[in-house]
Amino acid sequence: MTISPPILFVGAGPGAAEHLTLGALDALRAADVVVHDRLVGAEVLALIPEGTRRVDVGKEGFGPSTAQADIHAVLVAEGLAGRRVVRLKGGDPGIFARLDEEIEAITAAGLTFRILPGLTTASVAAAAIGQGLTQRGRNTGLRIVTGHVMEGFAEQDWKALARPGEVAAIYMAKRAARFLQGRLMMHGARPETPVTIVENAGRADQCIRAATLASLAASAAAATGPAILLLGLAPRAAIDALSQLSEAQA
Ligand code: SAH
Repeated sequence: MTISPPILFVGAGPGAAEHLTLGALDALRAADVVVHDRLVGAEVLALIPEGTRRVDVGKEGFGPSTAQADIHAVLVAEGLAGRRVVRLKGGDPGIFARLDEEIEAITAAGLTFRILPGLTTASVAAAAIGQGLTQRGRNTGLRIVTGHVMEGFAEQDWKALARPGEVAAIYMAKRAARFLQGRLMMHGARPETPVTIVENAGRADQCIRAATLASLAASAAAATGPAILLLGLAPRAAIDALSQLSEAQA
C-alpha cells in the first residue's frame, strides 16, 4: 500500500506573486498536481513549474462552476494515487473557501492534510488604501463577513455593523451591495459612513473606489472583477487630501 503524502491546502493570496508565502512557493514547486480556483491570480499560476499538472476547478459567484462533489472526487483520486496534491485557493484557504468540506471529504477517504495559510484579501485591500483594519479608539474588532450564501444574500448582525466606527471586510458583496446598503441604513448606519470598494486587490489592475453608504450601490455596480468592500474605512490619501483642503480653506 502506498502511503499518500498529505494534501496541502495552500493560500495563494489575492493575486500578486509578492503576496505568496515562501511555504506556498515551495509547495507549488514540489507538487505533482495543482488543483486551483479561478480566483488564483495569473502571476501565481505562472510560478507553477511547466511540467506540473493543473486542474482548474474555477468557481464564479452565480456563474458556471465545478460542483463541490467533483472537486472532492478529484482531490481524493489524486491523493489516493499517491501524488503530491496542492489544493490552491485564492487568499487564505480558511476564509470563505469551503476548506472544511474538502478536509472532511479527503479525511473520510483516509487521506491526511496540512494547511498553508495565505494573505486574505482584506489584509491586502486595507494595505492598498493605507489603512489598518483595527485602530485604537475606533474599532476594537474586525468583522469578516460574506455578502451572499448559497440561498441568496447573507443576513448579518446589522445592528452591530451599523454602529459608528465599526469596520467590516465584506467578501462576495458586489451583487449584495444594494441589499447591504438597505439593511445597514435601516439599522441606523449613517449615509456618510465610508465604504471603500477594492477591486482586483493586489493585482496590476487594482482599482480603488471610495464611496459612502449612500453611494455604495452605484459604486459597487461599476466593479467588474473580484471586489471586496471595506465598511467603515476610507482611503487614507482621500482623508489627507480632504483635511488639507479644509485647512487651506480655514
Ligand atoms: N479565500 C479568499 C476569499 C474567497 S471568497 C480570501 O481569503 O481572500 C471570494 C471573494 O473574495 C470574492 O468574491 C471577493 O470578494 C474576494 N476576493 C478574492 N480575491 C480578490 C481580489 N484580488 N480583489 C478583491 N477581492 C477579492
